[in-house]
Amino acid sequence: MSSDAELLILGSSAGLPTANRYPTAMAVKAGGGLYLLDCGAPVSNHLKRMGEDPRTIRAVFLTHWHPDHAHGLPMLLQDLQLTGRREPLTIYGPPGTSEKLDDLLRLFLIPREILPYTLTAVDVQPGSVFTDEHLRVAYFPTRHLAADQWQTLDATYGQRLWPLAFGLLLHVADQRILISGDIRNSDDLEPYVEGCTLVSHEFGHMVIDQIRKFAIKHKLPRLLIAHLHHRYDHADGEAEIRAAIADGYEGELLVARDLMRIAL
Ligand SMILES: [Zn+2]
Repeated sequence: MSSDAELLILGSSAGLPTANRYPTAMAVKAGGGLYLLDCGAPVSNHLKRMGEDPRTIRAVFLTHWHPDHAHGLPMLLQDLQLTGRREPLTIYGPPGTSEKLDDLLRLFLIPREILPYTLTAVDVQPGSVFTDEHLRVAYFPTRHLAADQWQTLDATYGQRLWPLAFGLLLHVADQRILISGDIRNSDDLEPYVEGCTLVSHEFGHMVIDQIRKFAIKHKLPRLLIAHLHHRYDHADGEAEIRAAIADGYEGELLVARDLMRIAL
């Protein structure tokens, strides 16, 4: 199960940055290019620390627009401006992404005319939205927010936010990789987990035992715990997670850390 492809962890915390972890961002490296999955970390800084060039990003895929998944976007766009990117860049995200990108460019005083590259956004629906010779990405909806949180958002912003959050199903290097996005329950992943060689499961909104049971039930060959709750950002946090998952789980367990590389 080895290839040249890698999964890079650029940020590994959930909603609260910690002393050791920035919020969520990952990148698939395949075919000499990068495919960014969320942008909640200082993506440019971390890519450069890992010896990678942000200009090699081929596309950006956002699971949703909460700050811990998207706040690094304006800085990335400015980096690509100042480093003279020429290739067009497309940002894929849930419905409303095009409008939000326009809002963001206005907010950060970045008229499209000053960018040396063409920047576009695509509002995706569940299903396949991106395919090239190295990667296929399909979006699926998740139940990220509780009913009362939905009511507040709906009352404030209306239906343009619906649906708020997605997960991602990737096909890369003959592997099927599930990126959970933000969920409230592992059940959201049930329809997509069959045949997955790696599952990246968020750990910001649930108890660890639910993830353990899910991993055992589906005999996941590789489980990546990502989007870690801040209460685990201490010296023994990773050991605690490993101990909690190990009981009955026989696959390979990975606990995300910033700047980590995972061979695919
Ligand atoms: Zn999150």
